[in-house]
Amino acid sequence: MKQSLLLLFSIVLLVFACTRKIQQQPEDQPTSYDTVTTRIEPEVRKPRNVILMIGDGMGLGQITAGMYASGNKLQIERFPIVGLHKSHAFDQLITDSAAGATAFACGKKTYNGAIGVTPDTLACTTLLELAEEKGYATGLVATSTIVHATPASFIAHQKQRKMYEAIAADFLRTDIDFFIGGGKKYFDRRESDDRNLYLELQQKGYLVSDYFRQELYEAPADPQRNYAYFTSDADPLPVNQGRDYLPLATQMAMDHLEERPGKGFFLMVEGSQIDWGGHANNESYIISEMQEFDRVLGMVLDFAEKEGNTLVVTTADHETGGFSIVPPARMDSLATAFTTDYHTATMIPVFAYGPGAEAFSGIYENTAIFYKIRAAMHW
Ligand code: MG
Ligand code: MG
Ligand code: ZN
Repeated sequence: MKQSLLLLFSIVLLVFACTRKIQQQPEDQPTSYDTVTTRIEPEVRKPRNVILMIGDGMGLGQITAGMYASGNKLQIERFPIVGLHKSHAFDQLITDSAAGATAFACGKKTYNGAIGVTPDTLACTTLLELAEEKGYATGLVATSTIVHATPASFIAHQKQRKMYEAIAADFLRTDIDFFIGGGKKYFDRRESDDRNLYLELQQKGYLVSDYFRQELYEAPADPQRNYAYFTSDADPLPVNQGRDYLPLATQMAMDHLEERPGKGFFLMVEGSQIDWGGHANNESYIISEMQEFDRVLGMVLDFAEKEGNTLVVTTADHETGGFSIVPPARMDSLATAFTTDYHTATMIPVFAYGPGAEAFSGIYENTAIFYKIRAAMHW
């Protein structure tokens, strides 16, 4: 009885104290509730730049093999946020690189072979075009031809991926600030028309050079001008046959785009040939391409850390080869196997770093990557 009386007295005192405190609080002061919500949901900073890194055909098997072949350590492990995307195309479970890249570029599922077009073959606005529209500098770097499905889907709109000369012509319809890749012949030795797009780029003010004229390191970009460099006439070589330009090209792209006038930049870099190693069912081809791409990821993360306001998103369009590590594999001597020489439908990892990176955790469709980048950039 004595105890419950004491309890009642305490409650009355407490209520009185609270009431007085509330009454004393001036109306224009934030309540403690506001303070708490602000702490729980801090405003997500808008990144200045976004770099999309695509390892074509880079599934978990490819990453894992690259990791163990590199002493159980890859640069890709530096990404703090990991998610998974579902890679299926509009009408087929197993996507190709054209539909896969168009999903990232436009946020639309489409048919295999489609380059920046919807299932009804209408052009869809790409991230690169949105960036240009909003006043950002833009760039594409690839270890395939620059008109190959992955880079093409960010800048061109064509019904079929093999329309390389039409895709090349679409480059002239944009103000892309920087591109490096193979495929010079689709620009300057065309079969479908008499145009020389190499000259047309120069007439448009681009600084243009190529592998035949000079090495990439001998052809520095000029921040006052747009820049294009062709690394080969058709497909560039595999890295284990002497191709070595991806690290330099990516560094040049970041440095150039940072110096260009504008609000920031959009850059897509593709490690194109991880996929080709998968199609060839060639373990050392996959691993060497994976290791080079990972080295470039390290350079991109170094840039983003230093710059401080760059969102980096790394993913693949699909897995290639059904590539896996099988018995009697050991960490220092891998044994691998393939289930196909084409692509597979397994979910694909997504890695993110920088302001807005948290949005990339979870499981979602490949098209969500477009919407997440657009939301992060406020485009
Ligand atoms: Mg590709
Ligand atoms: Mg531009
Ligand atoms: Zn492929």
